[in-house]
Amino acid sequence: MQRHRESQTLPIVIAGAGPVGCCAALYLAQQGFSVTLLEAEPELPMDLRASTFHPPTLDLLDRVGLTERLIPQGLVVREYQFRERSTGTSARFNLSHLRGETDYPYRLQCEQYKMTREVVKLLGSHANVRFMSRTKVIGFRELNDGVRVLTFDGKQETVLNASFLIGCDGANSRIRQASATPFPGLTYPELFLVVSTDFPFEDHFHGLSWVNYVSDPEEWCVMLKTPEVWRVQFPTPVSATPEHLLSDEYIQGRLKRLCPHGSPYSIRHRTLYRVHQRVADSYRPGRRVVLAGDSAHVNNPLGGMGMNGGIHDAFNLCEKLVDVRNDQIELDVALDLYDAQRRQICIDVIQRQTIRNKQLLEGSNKAVQLERQRVLMDAASDPARQKAHLMESSMINCLRHSYAIGLPS
Ligand SMILES: Cc1cc2nc3c(=O)[nH]c(=O)nc-3n(C[C@H](O)[C@H](O)[C@H](O)COP(=O)(O)OP(=O)(O)OC[C@H]3O[C@@H](n4cnc5c(N)ncnc54)[C@H](O)[C@@H]3O)c2cc1C
Repeated sequence: MQRHRESQTLPIVIAGAGPVGCCAALYLAQQGFSVTLLEAEPELPMDLRASTFHPPTLDLLDRVGLTERLIPQGLVVREYQFRERSTGTSARFNLSHLRGETDYPYRLQCEQYKMTREVVKLLGSHANVRFMSRTKVIGFRELNDGVRVLTFDGKQETVLNASFLIGCDGANSRIRQASATPFPGLTYPELFLVVSTDFPFEDHFHGLSWVNYVSDPEEWCVMLKTPEVWRVQFPTPVSATPEHLLSDEYIQGRLKRLCPHGSPYSIRHRTLYRVHQRVADSYRPGRRVVLAGDSAHVNNPLGGMGMNGGIHDAFNLCEKLVDVRNDQIELDVALDLYDAQRRQICIDVIQRQTIRNKQLLEGSNKAVQLERQRVLMDAASDPARQKAHLMESSMINCLRHSYAIGLPS
């Protein structure tokens, strides 16, 4: 017991100030834990990745005071659609059907870097938090009642003593690799291209929503609006080089096939991503070492489930660390439960759903594509089926079901 108390006086070290590490740091800081948040980069990354916050994630973020800070920086989206490219038909899903299930019956389109910036601002008012940028975790060693975390700041190596180490260091997690935790799954052969433009697509397509999943056997895409720009995600041909895929010629061609337009599109950003479906064999590679977010699981971005699922991990884990501190549950039981709940839901729901989302868009031929569109339009035309669809796609069911895993029924 004495040993347990001593280890509590050491900080919890969180590797990675992405959305997941930031949420964990804020939650734990507000609960009075001493926290050290380490970020490898000199500045918080501003890459164009997640932009969708689902309703149950907004419910969770409300508990740490983030939702009200994000809403003014985002776009409230009450409807999204599956659109068949050649016919322009759309199956529309209205998130207002989720009233009563969530305090936020909408998706918030808001870039992930806006959240991490807000968190780091809020952490500044907590005396129990240290935020260290340009500090990369390069290894760790577990002791009986703590963890020695080896870091590198570009000039020298330093050892930090921690009570726990939470690996939120993204898809190439050093912590996952250092613990030799397998990360099985698949890597898609094609790269995903994300382009943003201030072109007003809404003036050129009839009945466009702010979030559109556009199906086509060869040229499927996702069109998402953020407050500033439209973002379009495309798959790319496997045979093309990254230089060609990022060239003006290629990007202008793709956008003009999507929406013919006389003058060149103004391109604000362009990024190519390699996309995987992988889940770590364990989210708990040590007695006092855990993984959360992309370090533990990665999936394609269709449906916006990666960051959201990672934030759900962070809350599940931090709630359990509070219970351990309050002597309500044994450490090993709590962390095993975290591993069981979050890993199982990722395999059973998030991985399956995102793989299915990609299949829905790409379709093997026109007839299959049109049949899928008909099924979606049928679902959208019936309020009960529409709500059932939304409970899955908005991740309300998967968050609720995760908490039931491993508990007596
Ligand atoms: C094009 C695209 C669109 C997406 N859209 C969505 C979406 O709409 N909704 C959604 O839910 N998800 C989306 N995702 C997925 C989402 O971006 C990720 O799931 C999310 O960023 C994971 O957050 P994270 O904090 O776990 O990891 P990351 O965001 O990768 O953050 C990891 C952090 O750790 C730092 N780091 C790395 N190594 C170390 C180290 N050794 N020591 C210290 N720091 C380290 C990194 O610099 C980084 O800041 C999208 C992904 C892509 C590619």
